[in-house]
Amino acid sequence: MPTDHKIELDALAFAQALIRRPSVTPKDAGALDVLEAVLKQLGFATHRLPFGDVDNLYARLGDAAPHFCFAGHTDVVPVGEGWNADPFAAEIKDGKLYGRGAADMKSAIAAFVAAAARVGKQKGSISLLITGDEEGVAVNGTVKVLEWLRTRGEKIDHCIVGEPTSAAHAGDTLKIGRRGSINFKLAVKGVQGHVGYPQKAKNPIPALAQLVTQLAAHRLDKGSEHFDPSTLAFTSVDVGNDATNVIPAEARAAFNIRFNDKHTPDSLTNWVKDRAAMIAQESGCEITVTSQTSGVSFLTAPGKFTQQISDTISSITGQVPFFSTSGGTSDARFIKDVCPVVELGLAGATMHKADECVPVAEIEALTEIYAAVLTAYFAKPPL
Ligand SMILES: [Zn+2]
Repeated sequence: MPTDHKIELDALAFAQALIRRPSVTPKDAGALDVLEAVLKQLGFATHRLPFGDVDNLYARLGDAAPHFCFAGHTDVVPVGEGWNADPFAAEIKDGKLYGRGAADMKSAIAAFVAAAARVGKQKGSISLLITGDEEGVAVNGTVKVLEWLRTRGEKIDHCIVGEPTSAAHAGDTLKIGRRGSINFKLAVKGVQGHVGYPQKAKNPIPALAQLVTQLAAHRLDKGSEHFDPSTLAFTSVDVGNDATNVIPAEARAAFNIRFNDKHTPDSLTNWVKDRAAMIAQESGCEITVTSQTSGVSFLTAPGKFTQQISDTISSITGQVPFFSTSGGTSDARFIKDVCPVVELGLAGATMHKADECVPVAEIEALTEIYAAVLTAYFAKPPL
């Protein structure tokens, strides 16, 4: 092994090796073993971090600051139906690499490792934080690894999450934030009774209808500097009453809010509870509000870090990346509590679909971008 740890690593072949491990959440199927073996060869100090039924890998090259981390996941979503290619054979057809995880996100992991191999040891540290539980409930993955790092006193300074966030080509988009997501359930309890004697009952349906109308009609915000307006969408209104002569005792509804940086799960929950309390008072019904946050919003405000990455990308692609905050949630929602984080990866058009694939040329393009990002970062850390 050369002392500066620089070895040639073919990103495409490595992506194929990862895809050939059918690591459907939360199974690892040897994917992390493949990754760990290569990282060890490159001189990384590796740690396997199993929590519950999920295996994770943290690997670091160097121990000085600044510390640049690449985060991602080796787990993939189930195959589903309708494939023409073998989802775990990693075949190349017409210049495209096919397989579950080709886009989301084994090729990005391979690109990052190949980039790290190209630039070699730097004045600072390069690490990988790879979880086997991103596509699942995300309880025993990134959250637990970050906690483990904190107890060891290891500090990450900047992070790229390699999710497939680009639109058409690697580097055309830089995700600097994502909206948060929270699910609500409403249960309105009245008093059951005969439809002929409504005065003796307390009908929960008009109360629920009123609450649904109020919540759905409310404009949460007009958007913020970097985000689209928050949205609220009802997913269910449910009484479940087949009888035509009975006023039911209870009516339920459910809705989801995708929220920007003008809200928090607490502020939204308080708003919904206030509205519910008002209608409960007017109607005499009892209204229960329950909520579950599936992700808080995050924003890495444009600054030195995002500028450096943007400049680096455009020096390679000739195109300034679009700063985006759209889409669902990712593990960046946890990492944002530790350091500035952005998402930069392949185009994700086929992620989670049948015949998931990525052009072979895009894997090389992403490798080149990652390598340039690392070189620029350690030449002039954006601290
Ligand atoms: Zn993913």
